[in-house]
Amino acid sequence: MAVAPDGSSRIVIAGGGIAGLSLALALKQALGATFSIVLADPTVNAVPKADNRAYAVAAGARSMLETLGVWDAISGKTQAMTEMVISDSRTTDAVRPVFLTFDGEVEPGQPFAHMIENAVLVAELKAACLRVGVELRPVGVRRFLVEDETAEIVFADGTREQAALLVAADGARSKLREQAGIGWVGWDYGQSGIVATIGHERPHHGRAVEHFLPSGPFAILPLADGGKLGHRSSIVWTERTDNVAPLLSLDREDILAEIETRFGLELGEIALESPVSAHPLGFGVARRFVDDRLALLGDAAHLIHPIAGQGLNLGLKDVAALAETIVDAARLGLDPGTLDVLESYEKARRFDTVAMGAVTDGLNRLFSNDATPLRLARDLGLGLVDRLPGLKRFFIREAAGLAGAPPRLLRGEVL
Ligand SMILES: Cc1cc2nc3c(=O)[nH]c(=O)nc-3n(C[C@H](O)[C@H](O)[C@H](O)COP(=O)(O)OP(=O)(O)OC[C@H]3O[C@@H](n4cnc5c(N)ncnc54)[C@H](O)[C@@H]3O)c2cc1C
Repeated sequence: MAVAPDGSSRIVIAGGGIAGLSLALALKQALGATFSIVLADPTVNAVPKADNRAYAVAAGARSMLETLGVWDAISGKTQAMTEMVISDSRTTDAVRPVFLTFDGEVEPGQPFAHMIENAVLVAELKAACLRVGVELRPVGVRRFLVEDETAEIVFADGTREQAALLVAADGARSKLREQAGIGWVGWDYGQSGIVATIGHERPHHGRAVEHFLPSGPFAILPLADGGKLGHRSSIVWTERTDNVAPLLSLDREDILAEIETRFGLELGEIALESPVSAHPLGFGVARRFVDDRLALLGDAAHLIHPIAGQGLNLGLKDVAALAETIVDAARLGLDPGTLDVLESYEKARRFDTVAMGAVTDGLNRLFSNDATPLRLARDLGLGLVDRLPGLKRFFIREAAGLAGAPPRLLRGEVL
């Protein structure tokens, strides 16, 4: 294992999205001066112009962010989801029948998810990383070589550095995964997720709504109050990709009218509080999550449909599992970059990832469809789940990331 002149070892994380930043913070807090943690991303110092992304962060992931000391700083800007309502309808339906409702608590007083805006969480994670001594380096990782029990990292500016481990947290189109020759099983849905922040006149009371429309789900997710009309929600509108360019070329008034048709009238007058953007949706899982001196993290390891708001939550579960693997090995004096050590991370994460990928893929296929027999069958299924409290509880614990035996950070324990 490569050891620096000051006796410390180095871990390089390529990718400063929420997954990469959370891992950097967890490792530095637990390992202190014995490891230098470098997070490299060409965009790490850039301030995104108009970031309209927001996520439902599940209870387990929230516990980890609390333990890492970032949640308290942002808690005034988060919104608890107190209820989730699912309806199956067409845009022309005057009344949208409710087929399934979830009360939003895993345990009394513990909501199963909170909504948080990407910009808010990323800014706090970066500040926390800097406070504990993570090096945030504004440069990409071009490639890496494994030689003599060391990863040699080649940065985009031509500099080179040795590390015990490279973590590729460089997103779904990971070049580092490709360079390592790790295969990817996946497909495109031919759908895009249109995202925007919507202001509205009436309060949402923490209620999340998902309308299953024929082109795909339309989700209204409650954000912390604010904006021109006093209240805000984030929308994720799944649309066939062919329809997206004409929609995005509409002027603000016309696209707002399209949104209103789907959003409904329940929350009163609505307004656009952000630009409207679209993200192509796909599914994919890496054939392996680890290699010698390499671990894949977050979307670099798996990509799922946002229908259940679980993509980032899977990535944060990876963070908890990989941090635990590395820290436990380092404390035993083992080299955390070896395949033997890294395989226990892969073992911990592979089944959960493939299972969640299959569930979200199945849900999307089932609901992005207007065939009458299928609608009847799924409505019957939703109605049945709605009447079975035990099954609902099971789904809530799964969605909260607390099923099975979660890693220590997800249980709110320090490493
Ligand atoms: C419409 C939509 C809605 C969603 N809603 C939710 C939700 O409600 N809940 C949820 O859990 N998930 C949700 N997701 C999923 C979530 O957005 C992703 O899972 C998550 O953002 C992935 O984070 P990441 O850190 O793994 O990767 P990314 O956020 O993609 O970050 C990758 C980073 O790597 C950097 N990078 C790229 N190449 C290199 C390189 N060579 N060297 C160094 N750095 C590099 C990039 O600059 C980038 O900063 C949603 C997704 C979509 C599309």
